[in-house]
Amino acid sequence: VPKKGKVEARSICVCVRKRPLNSKEVTKNDIDVVSIPGNGTLLLHEPKQKVDLTKYLDNQVFHFDYSFDESSTNDLVYRFTAKPLVQTIFDGGVATCFAYGQTGSGKTHTMGGDFSGKSQNNAKGIYAMAAQDVFALLKQRRYSGLDLCPYVTFFEIYNSKVFDLLNKKAKLRVLEDEKQQVQVVGLQEMYVSCAEDVIKMIEMGSACRTSGQTSANANSSRSHAVLQVILRRRNQVHGKFSLVDLAGNERGIDVRSSDRQTLVETAEINRSLLALKECIRSLGMDSHHIPFRMSKLTQVLRDSFIGENSRTCMIAMVSPGMSSCDSTVNTLRYADRVKEL
Ligand code: ADP
Ligand code: MG
Repeated sequence: VPKKGKVEARSICVCVRKRPLNSKEVTKNDIDVVSIPGNGTLLLHEPKQKVDLTKYLDNQVFHFDYSFDESSTNDLVYRFTAKPLVQTIFDGGVATCFAYGQTGSGKTHTMGGDFSGKSQNNAKGIYAMAAQDVFALLKQRRYSGLDLCPYVTFFEIYNSKVFDLLNKKAKLRVLEDEKQQVQVVGLQEMYVSCAEDVIKMIEMGSACRTSGQTSANANSSRSHAVLQVILRRRNQVHGKFSLVDLAGNERGIDVRSSDRQTLVETAEINRSLLALKECIRSLGMDSHHIPFRMSKLTQVLRDSFIGENSRTCMIAMVSPGMSSCDSTVNTLRYADRVKEL
């Protein structure tokens, strides 16, 4: 069980998770440059000069609320990150959990789980575990009298456009009314009666995410995916839990050799991740100062950044290999900025 690092009364928790070196990296003699001594600490042995890998390694230390090493299971990560947020939505609040990191660092493994059958690590993800806990709490006596009804939405944001993953990737419009309430017009909100219902939606939506990509190369790693569990009471929203598998933040996209599409996508991803950072940093501030209009992602998640009862958790995923060092540094710096309120 990881010990909590610096403890502060804040509405944001920032953690880091390192995945194991994979067989491809091992084959390429990539070396592990990330170590997790515990207590929220992460050490990055960054090569000072790429010419002589073994000699000039510069140690950089980062501190987070929790740091999970490569032996951590999804279950353990869930217990310290998203699980405590389930209570928030029953108390009438807004909870949000983000998975941040470069493509291949483990965002989808952590959030959606790994049921491909190809890998050895069949594991339930945070989506499914959160759904199970929501239904466990719904059955508790102190909540069963509240008449709370659970619904699920699942959508993707690609190049500033919203697509419904529970409705054949229908393209949806986002509107903001005069009260600054943001609405995704026509988004399917499905009633769910048990955790298995939610898992079915996740499977359906995830399949929709990665297949049938008619519009250009709408690759899943270039889009943000948002699963929301909404508790309604007498048809009003009582609480909302957004679980976000963010688009890859990779560094080192070659501007000269990339096509226009890739450059547009990359610029859009960078813009939305910057907006997200700014909005999280404004958490708990006067809503007039929250720059949620900076991107579609933050606009759609506006509720997550306002209100007294919003709680957020960010899990920064890192690949251990030296070949990923630039992206890893980028991820750790971003997470560092997010946690500094
Ligand atoms: P991302 O969504 O960030 O692009 P994925 O979640 O798809 O990355 O992970 C890339 C690969 O690494 C997948 O094959 C996944 O099964 C594997 N993987 C990721 N995290 C872990 C982990 N903690 N333990 C074992 N395998 C992992
Ligand atoms: Mg992914």
